[in-house]
Amino acid sequence: MLSQILHRIKEGAALIWYEQEEECLLCSNLAKEIICQSCRDLYFRPELNRCNTCGKLIGDNKIRCSDCQEGKGPKCLTRATALGHYSGAWKDLIQNVKFRGQPYLLAYLRGYVDDWVIKNFPPPDVIIPVPMHHSRIAQRGFNQADVLASILSGQLGIEYQDALYRNRATTAQTSLGRHERLNNVQGAFSLKKDVDIKGRIIWLVDDVVTTGTTLDECAKALREHGASDIYGICLAAGIEEILEK
Ligand SMILES: [Zn+2]
Ligand SMILES: [Zn+2]
Repeated sequence: MLSQILHRIKEGAALIWYEQEEECLLCSNLAKEIICQSCRDLYFRPELNRCNTCGKLIGDNKIRCSDCQEGKGPKCLTRATALGHYSGAWKDLIQNVKFRGQPYLLAYLRGYVDDWVIKNFPPPDVIIPVPMHHSRIAQRGFNQADVLASILSGQLGIEYQDALYRNRATTAQTSLGRHERLNNVQGAFSLKKDVDIKGRIIWLVDDVVTTGTTLDECAKALREHGASDIYGICLAAGIEEILEK
């Protein structure tokens, strides 16, 4: 009898759960998921390949983007990927988090972003955020990469370590060209004292990857201390110019 009642409650709960619709985080239309199907199609472009080095969206018949093919991509990173590409409402969301002081928006991605990463990457030993210089943290109040890394760690029960530090303030990479980007972040990251990452598989977390230069500089510091595989995990990557609409 009791088991029948419990079964009914479970069925009822399932019904409520599946029928419930909420506003899509990006377009505000009612949807069963936090990001509706149209927004996923528009901003995540599931029909396109990703460069298996820097995570940029590329055409069908390619393995790497033109930059990575020409040897301009990341060298120390095993590979990088991103949930979407940096445009429209997805870009707005990331900018609202960073520049309009709304880190809580990332909490809406809980259960979504972790589910996506764990299905696409080998589980790591540790999750490490790309660090922000202390002067920037003082200004902004938080590091969005850190918030995202903590969410992934909490959801997946994987160790989180704030293992890197940025030893100088750098200009925002988005405002610079490729060559300037490299100069801007070269040697900017170091491993904190007493952190042991020897032989460990790492998820290196950041909000956006464009050329992969920042992730690669972090990966360099991690490799120097014996890290094994280093995967860059981001919310948004670039899209090859030829495919841009
Ligand atoms: Zn939507
Ligand atoms: Zn690439």
